Amino acid sequence: AMSHGWGYGPSNGPDKWAESYPVANGARQSPINVVPKEAQFDSSLKALKLRYDPANSRGILNNGHSFQVDFVDDTDSSTLTGGPITGTYRLKQFHFHWGASDDRGSEHTVNGINFPCELHLVHWNTKYPSFGDAADKPDGLAVVGVFLKIGAANPRLQKVLDALEAIKTKGKQTTFGNFDAKTLLPGSLDYWTYDGSLTTPPLLESVTWIVLKEPISVSPAQMAMFRSLLFTGEGEAACCMADNYRPPQPLKGRRVRASFK
Ligand SMILES: [Zn+2]
Repeated sequence: AMSHGWGYGPSNGPDKWAESYPVANGARQSPINVVPKEAQFDSSLKALKLRYDPANSRGILNNGHSFQVDFVDDTDSSTLTGGPITGTYRLKQFHFHWGASDDRGSEHTVNGINFPCELHLVHWNTKYPSFGDAADKPDGLAVVGVFLKIGAANPRLQKVLDALEAIKTKGKQTTFGNFDAKTLLPGSLDYWTYDGSLTTPPLLESVTWIVLKEPISVSPAQMAMFRSLLFTGEGEAACCMADNYRPPQPLKGRRVRASFK
C-alpha cells in the first residue's frame, strides 16, 4: 500500500496507481489520445447545452493534487444537457491539470500532441441522489474537457488565477463567488466523446467524456501562476504543483465519436 497516498511523484505517481487501484488497468480508463481521423462523425449527437448560474460558485480549494472551484449543486440551476448524454447533469466543480513546462500538461492528447493545460468541468447525473451516489455508476458523471493553448492572456481565466495566492498550500480554501464558468469555454462547442473514467484515484469508470475541439488561450505568464501553487502543506518543504496529469491510456476497442465533420 502507498503509505503517503497517491500523487504525481516517482514513488506514488500514475505508474504506481494500479497497485492500490486495480481498475487502473480496466477497460474504459482515461485520458486517451484522440486521433481525429479515427473518430466517427455521429449525426445523432446533439449540441451541448451548458446553463450555468454564476451565483452557484462557492469556493476554491487547493486539494494537494490540483485546485478546484466548487459549486452549490442542490438544485438544477447549473446544468449540462444535450450532447451525448441523456437527462440532466449538475455542475459540481472544475479543476485543471498542467505541466512544469509548456510542452506538456494536458491529459488528453490530439494526434499525440500535448497541450500545456487542460480544464475539466465535472457534472453528475441527477437520476442519482447525489454526486457521491453517481460517482461509481457507468452513466454517473459527465466531464467537459477544454484544452488551453499558449497565446494571448485570457482575462476570464485571470479571475480564477487571481484567487490562487490565497490557496498556495495543500488544504487551503477561500470563498469564490459570482463566477460564470461558461466564460471559460471556447467559441465552438464541437466535441469528441467516449466512455471513460476519472483520471485520478479511485479511477472510477463512470465518466462520459466530452472533449472540446477548440482550445482556449493562456499566456506564458498565466501558466507560471498555475505553477506557483504547492503540492505541499504549510510548514512542509515546498514542492511546486505541476505535472499533475495522467498520460493517455489504452483505447481497448472503444469508439470515439465526433459531433462535427
Ligand atoms: Zn481532471
